[in-house]
Amino acid sequence: MQKCNRCSKEAKVFLAYGPHSFCKMHFLEFFEKRVRKTINKFRLVKPGERIAVGVSGGKDSITTLHLLKKIFPKGTEIHAVCIDEGIKGYRDKALKIAEQHFEELDVDYTILKMKKELGFSMAEIAKKLNERKHLQGTQGTCSYCGVFRRKMLNDFAFKEKFDKLATGHNLDDEVQTILMNVLQNDLAKFSRLGPIAAGESKLFVPRIKPLYETPEKEIIAFSQYNGWKVYNAECCPFSRQAKRNAFRKAMDEIEGKYPNVKYSAISFYQGIKPFLKDFGKESKIRACKSCGMPSSGFECASCIQLKKLSN
Ligand code: SF4
Ligand code: ZN
Repeated sequence: MQKCNRCSKEAKVFLAYGPHSFCKMHFLEFFEKRVRKTINKFRLVKPGERIAVGVSGGKDSITTLHLLKKIFPKGTEIHAVCIDEGIKGYRDKALKIAEQHFEELDVDYTILKMKKELGFSMAEIAKKLNERKHLQGTQGTCSYCGVFRRKMLNDFAFKEKFDKLATGHNLDDEVQTILMNVLQNDLAKFSRLGPIAAGESKLFVPRIKPLYETPEKEIIAFSQYNGWKVYNAECCPFSRQAKRNAFRKAMDEIEGKYPNVKYSAISFYQGIKPFLKDFGKESKIRACKSCGMPSSGFECASCIQLKKLSN
C-alpha cells in the first residue's frame, strides 16, 4: 500500500509531476491551497471587489464558483452569469445543474439568452452555417459561439460594473492555447494570455483564471470527491473543436512521458510575458462603431459575424 505524503492513510491520488501521493482529504486540501496561491500570487482578486463568474455547468466553472465562494465568504460579491446559447438537450440540462449549485451556495445569478441578446440562437446559427458552408471557417459553429459568448459576458460585466470576470480556464486549456498560438503564429493573441487578461481599454472587464495552475484531470477528481453533479461539456451537438482536441491529445501524450511539461510551459510563458507587452498595441482598442463595445478594428468580431449571418 502506498501511503499519503501527509498522513498514514492509503494514497488515492498520484500526481506524477510532484511526485505527490495523497489520500482523499489531503488531495482536497492540496487542491484548494493551490487555487488560493494562484489567486494571491497573481493578485487576481482585491478585497471588496465585485466578481462575475461565467458558469456553464461544467466541472471547471462549477469548481471555480465553489472555491471563490469559499475563499471569499464575505466582503467580495460573487455573482454567477450563464450564457444560454439555445442548444436544446444540452445547455438547458447544464443550466439546470448550475442552478442547483447556485441555490446550494446561495449565489445570485443571471442567465443571458443568446437569442434575446444577439438575435440568433446557436441552433439557428448552426443551421445557417450548414446551409452556407463558406461561412463555417475551420472551427465552424464553435468560433461563432466563442466570440458571442465572450462578448455577452464582457458586456454584462461592464454594464453591471463588475470589477473582474472569472472563468473556469484551467492549466490544460492555457497550455493548449499557448501551443496553438505559437504554431499558428498568432503573436497578438499569444501576448494576451496569462492568469489575468486586462485590456488597455476601460471597456474590457479584466478576466481572471483562478484555475490557471490546476490540471484538468485533478478538477475531475476534485469535483467527484466533493460529490458535485456537473455537466459534461463534450455533449454539445455542434462541437467542432477538432483542432483544440488535437493539441490536447499531443500535450497529454508528452506530459505522460515527461511529467511537469505543462507547468514548464506556463512558467516559460510567465518568463517572457514582460517582453510581450508592446505586441498588439498597434491594434489600438476603440469602441466598435456598431455596438460601442471594445474592438481592435472599427467593428468588433461579434458585430462582423452577426452581419455575415444576417446577409
Ligand atoms: Fe458553443 Fe462549440 Fe461549446 Fe457547443 S462546443 S457550446 S458550439 S463553443
Ligand atoms: Zn460590435
